[in-house]
Amino acid sequence: MTATATDTTVLDITGLRAGYGNIEVLHGVSVRVGAGEIVSLLGPNGAGKTTTLLACSGLVSVSGGDIRLRGTSLLRLSPHVIARKRLAHIPEDRSLFPSLTVDEHLRLSARPGGLNVLELFPELRKRRNNRAGVLSGGEQQMLALGRALAAHPEVLLVDEMSMGLAPVVVERLFDALREIAVSGGLAVLMVEQHIHLALKYARRGYVLSGGRVRAQGTAPDLLARWSDIESSYLGR
Ligand code: ATP
Repeated sequence: MTATATDTTVLDITGLRAGYGNIEVLHGVSVRVGAGEIVSLLGPNGAGKTTTLLACSGLVSVSGGDIRLRGTSLLRLSPHVIARKRLAHIPEDRSLFPSLTVDEHLRLSARPGGLNVLELFPELRKRRNNRAGVLSGGEQQMLALGRALAAHPEVLLVDEMSMGLAPVVVERLFDALREIAVSGGLAVLMVEQHIHLALKYARRGYVLSGGRVRAQGTAPDLLARWSDIESSYLGR
């Protein structure tokens, strides 16, 4: 499958070159995410997956290519302007405020049209007045995801949602994410280390290594080719 932009394309990354200071770590990455689909970025440590998400949010310096949200370039926009363009980003550390309560997080991020998070995750209802810092890892990730969805995003970037969580919690989070993506037309670009989890929930995936896309395709296609991809590009 090729990565041509279509009229359902929401996020269109083309020939992206980006890095840290003078060090370029992405050498021309192209990734497309359509409305209502989950797309996975796969690859070994240091491949450039997180950097790709950071570039979309305006958090690393871009030296070439483009990142377009519904046709409008995000380059040269500051991170807070990008965030207002209905692009939400859940980083690996979840970026919660430990001393704010669940309710305070949700109130601060709520936007018209945003999701009712306590309906999506009733588990958070009894924790409404608890500070984020005392929540379990699973509850924190529910809050991080809920907070992002309350802001009514059109694009959601998610970095390692499964990190450190029990499998049952991970499934719960991914089931919710998939339902919202499909029903709400949300475009999701996620980084996930667990290949089977990533390809279970994503419709399509891109394999990065050394800052370049080495393979791409539908989830079943990538799964079928996985041992070849591993030996060719991932050095396993
Ligand atoms: P991981 O799963 O290990 O996070 P990744 O595919 O997400 O892998 P990135 O975090 O995007 O990889 O890192 C890509 C490259 O950029 C790596 O070589 C990494 O060392 C480098 N890098 C990441 N953050 C910085 C930084 N703040 N300053 C300089 N180099 C960095």
